[in-house]
Amino acid sequence: MAKRKPRRSEVKKIAKERIGLLLRMAEECCRTDPALSNRYVEIARRISMRHRVRINWYLRRRFCRHCHHFFVQGVNVRVRIHRGRVVVTCRRCGHQSRYPVVMSHPR
Ligand SMILES: [Zn+2]
Repeated sequence: MAKRKPRRSEVKKIAKERIGLLLRMAEECCRTDPALSNRYVEIARRISMRHRVRINWYLRRRFCRHCHHFFVQGVNVRVRIHRGRVVVTCRRCGHQSRYPVVMSHPR
């Protein structure tokens, strides 16, 4: 009998869980082994692209949109408030991302 093919929604759910897990792992090792945490970001991005799932906004903010390096607060990232917006500057590539200060909290 053929193996049951998982439904697309199930695959996406699992992909999302894995992305969350990878970025949590990146968080845990970002101070001791930044290279490893960058690897985790790469894997998480690959999963998100392959399964076409979006990375949650609060996870997306944890790494640089441009060079994909994981942000370590006070080490390789600068966070400033400017005209009611949060400006995040990557110290590696100098890329800036802006977003509103007020954002709903993740559920
Ligand atoms: Zn960068």
